[in-house]
Amino acid sequence: MTGYADTRFKRRPRFGCSMCHEDFNSLNLFEAHKTDTLPSGDRDCMSTQDMLDKGWKQNSLGRWYDPAHAAEVRQAFSAFPDDRTGPER
Ligand SMILES: [Zn+2]
Repeated sequence: MTGYADTRFKRRPRFGCSMCHEDFNSLNLFEAHKTDTLPSGDRDCMSTQDMLDKGWKQNSLGRWYDPAHAAEVRQAFSAFPDDRTGPER
């Protein structure tokens, strides 16, 4: 997971997928978007529509997150204000 000289991503991804080039806010979400194992051994990806259907959203960095899970985390760390996920440039 080092040396992302990969220009297919707009910025260094957090959990970037080398197949669909989507970026995910958590490893759990990254894993969740992986579906069937292909004959090549790679695992297929959910379509953008599938992810939207699950209620996932993209933040201002284009990174997918699960609002339902984000709400749980916010509750668990309620000492922190909501702007912890603000711009990181
Ligand atoms: Zn993918």
